[in-house]
Amino acid sequence: MDTNRKFALTRANRQFALVAVPAPLQEPLTYAVPEALDGRLEVGMRVLVPLGRRRVTGVVVGFQRESPVTGVKAVSEALDDEVLLDDAFLKMCRWAADYYVASLGEVLATALPPLLRTESRLVVAFAREPDSLHGELDREVLDALSRRGPTTPAALSRRFPRRGVKAVLDRLAAAGAVTVEDRLRGHVREARRKRQPRSETTAGAAAPSRAPVRTEEQEQALRSMDQRLSQGGFETMLLHGVTGSGKTEVYLQAMEQVRRQGRQSLILVPEIALTPQLLDRLEGRFPGEVAVLHSRLTSAERWRHWWRIAHGAVRVVAGARSAVFAPVRELGLIVVDEEHDYSYKQEEGVRYHGRDLAVVRGRIVGCPVILGSATPSVESYHNARSGRYRMIELTRRVEARPMPRVQVVDLKTRPGQSTPEGLFSTPLLQALQENHELGRQSLIFLNRRGFASFLQCWSCGFVLRCPRCSISLTYHRGRNSTFCHHCGFRQRKADACPECGNLSLSEVGFGTERVEHELRRLLPKARIGRMDRDTTGARGAQERIFRSWEKGEIDVLVGTQMVAKGHDVGGVTLVGVVLADSSLNLPDFRAAEKTFQIISQVAGRAGRARQPGRVIVQTLVPGHYCLDHARVHDYPSFFATETEFRRELGYPPFQHLVHLRLDGTDEDKVARGARDLGRALRGENPPAPLEILGPAPAPIAKLRNRYRWQILLKGRSRPALLALARRAVALMPKGRATRIHVDVDPYNML
Ligand code: ADP
Ligand code: ZN
Repeated sequence: MDTNRKFALTRANRQFALVAVPAPLQEPLTYAVPEALDGRLEVGMRVLVPLGRRRVTGVVVGFQRESPVTGVKAVSEALDDEVLLDDAFLKMCRWAADYYVASLGEVLATALPPLLRTESRLVVAFAREPDSLHGELDREVLDALSRRGPTTPAALSRRFPRRGVKAVLDRLAAAGAVTVEDRLRGHVREARRKRQPRSETTAGAAAPSRAPVRTEEQEQALRSMDQRLSQGGFETMLLHGVTGSGKTEVYLQAMEQVRRQGRQSLILVPEIALTPQLLDRLEGRFPGEVAVLHSRLTSAERWRHWWRIAHGAVRVVAGARSAVFAPVRELGLIVVDEEHDYSYKQEEGVRYHGRDLAVVRGRIVGCPVILGSATPSVESYHNARSGRYRMIELTRRVEARPMPRVQVVDLKTRPGQSTPEGLFSTPLLQALQENHELGRQSLIFLNRRGFASFLQCWSCGFVLRCPRCSISLTYHRGRNSTFCHHCGFRQRKADACPECGNLSLSEVGFGTERVEHELRRLLPKARIGRMDRDTTGARGAQERIFRSWEKGEIDVLVGTQMVAKGHDVGGVTLVGVVLADSSLNLPDFRAAEKTFQIISQVAGRAGRARQPGRVIVQTLVPGHYCLDHARVHDYPSFFATETEFRRELGYPPFQHLVHLRLDGTDEDKVARGARDLGRALRGENPPAPLEILGPAPAPIAKLRNRYRWQILLKGRSRPALLALARRAVALMPKGRATRIHVDVDPYNML
């Protein structure tokens, strides 16, 4: 042990612990280390500390010899007896706190599963009814436990204040009526049991499988990664491969190589529920060694996985955005699949980007990062072009399968004849009928759910709106109701206009429910399925629909972007896009990029097996460049046109953005707060030129009864932008009803 470290460990230097707590405080708080914990605390351990009148879980991030203030409170309890969060992990969290203008405690609260943030590691549970009971309080406590399930002693003490719950629990435990378990130790034990039954890891029971013979391009790609994978060191590689070119196979073999080095891999996927096939393939190649983190885990399951990962009991960790915080210790590779996907962006709390944090983590840990996509984000492709990332390309589909043929149909000159709204033009309808007669599968995509986009009275023009949001309500016929797609507000459909009373409410626009309805009419013999948020609410529903689609039990599948991602179903030979424009008209500088990506991705579902694929895209703007380039699968040309426009208007990747949103329940106060803040920010003297746009009301001016205003900061210098964003937070009056939300590199400015 070197002398520095020995010195740091002496008691004098560890009188006080710096603890990051889950609150928007810029600095960690100082707590005294009580004698009982002398020598037991390390950086990266969780502790229970008093905060105001509560006790919260914090993480020790440092020690101090002296306290900057007098009368500090003491650490209440240590929750770990080994270091849980290593230096690299804390470094990543610190980076995220700086970059996303949050506190370290807030980032840690985002990074750790909820059970790791609870107040105690002891869990009390009802065991059995004892032969006799000591008194009334024992009865009450036992009833509470059997009725409400396991809880912590601290929570019980709060429910029965000043009544000596500890003594009660001791008595009940002695009588065998309750169990008191130390969750930490229990789960460490469990984590150390090396292998878990497969059901513990991935959902499907995939058969073990072997790698196929590489295609020439896969061979080249893997050979070029070889040295980096075996020797380690940070490097970001952009794997740009057309749909069906075998990118996933490249990830799998790269991960196998890392496994041979005795290291672990982390693979991020956009939405875990959308990728059952990828999970099957992972499980097939790493049987019993995969942990999957996804949003539908119960908190106990999530907690158990977390411990198994932290103790190296798995070789591969797969998960959505938040898995970037998985406590992988021997990290040898990070893969971000479909790196362009918007679901990597967290849209509340600490608004981080999972892909960007993955790259940061790779740099901190010193391991390679593979970003894969058929339609890379403009930012990543720009980085690869400029040499910051290494570009690796797969230009052909596996087994020389042709790319699907894409036909763009102008709805203005070939309006739909079968339905008044022109849902299906003649070419699309004919193709659907032919494909069905040949016994093949068709996919129909529309990025909007519901039956009608809104209801409008044709007597007085009134549109049904959400009472809580400045948004029209979408009509869902199956549930005979109108819904707000932003806050979930529901109202039964009325026959009469609430404004004028006439029976003249009419349906305007359409969504996937309407498309399904029309398809049943037009193709009465076909088996039709629908996959969108309305049909996949129940646990497992989405996977069920997907499995029957995969087995060929559905002839035509209608869906939102859920059907566009990653699926590899060989029988699909026709893809129809009902209206490509629906994402083009959003007030968003990424609208063209989003549309190009979704059209390319959904088109990529066609013709992945022996039969070639065909794609029909309906639109009102057939000449738009993003459709032109998507039609011929030409990403570089799309990138060239798109970056020209971005450069001219000063959008990313040429300049950077920070979006500030103010919201509150009082419309005038929010407006005033935004104007005051705008004025104050303009009075600041940033170290580099920045643009301040706004304040202005947000495009969605009211959401869940809160009024919203926004200010956009724009500039070339990230440090200057972040400094100004921090000033904005500091300038907000404290404790007022108007809140500020900072979004660095924003994706959604509605
Ligand atoms: P991508 O991720 O680029 O869309 P995949 O890795 O899913 O492509 O590959 C597309 C299809 O080709 C899959 O069915 C996959 O099993 C198969 N495949 C991939 N690589 C090979 C190979 N080298 N030989 C044969 N089939 C392959
Ligand atoms: Zn609403």
